[in-house]
Amino acid sequence: MRLVLLGPPGAGKGTQAGRLVAKHAIPQLSTGDMLRAAVAEGAPLGAQAKEIMNRGELVPDELVIDLIDQRIGEPECARGFILDGFPRTIAQARALDVLLAERRMNLDAVIELVVDEDALLARVENRNRETLKAGGVVRADDNPDSLKIRLKAYRAQTAPVSAYYAERGALKQVDGMASIDEVTAAIDGAVGVRA
Ligand code: ADP
Repeated sequence: MRLVLLGPPGAGKGTQAGRLVAKHAIPQLSTGDMLRAAVAEGAPLGAQAKEIMNRGELVPDELVIDLIDQRIGEPECARGFILDGFPRTIAQARALDVLLAERRMNLDAVIELVVDEDALLARVENRNRETLKAGGVVRADDNPDSLKIRLKAYRAQTAPVSAYYAERGALKQVDGMASIDEVTAAIDGAVGVRA
């Protein structure tokens, strides 16, 4: 199964992707996680991405397209994958179409978690509190200033990606304001899996 999860920061993509990974035994490909790993390793790619990410802006399309191109060709992705945080621009969506077509692959569904923007800051603050409580380190971009810029980037650059897939009849919208279990059930319904 090949899925794309769309939704603004704090929508719950990571939580739901984790559940889909367990249920379908396919990997989660999160460009945000890949970029953070590159930053943590001190990789050249990370050096290029770090400041952009901390500000809350999007890194250049070529950078993430290359990351995804490498990953979807790996054997672990042969049975499918969940794209989380990619594509985030129309250019990335077009590039993904090409990458998939080259491999004779298609997407089974594009799921958008639809959430009330007013709830997002509170969700991220809650995630930060839980991270700190668990002894973890809060993401450098999970602060009100960066979040504002991330939301702006989402509205301007990523919201059109939903329209792109809707035009192709691939978009399924799910109410991301429902409980975690309800969202999971709605996603299962959208991809045709019985609970
Ligand atoms: P969130 O969805 O919570 O905003 P992510 O972990 O998906 O967070 O991404 C964090 C940051 O990584 C983004 O704000 C952006 O700078 C960068 N990033 C991740 N994925 C992409 C992408 N597909 N295109 C451009 N930048 C990306």
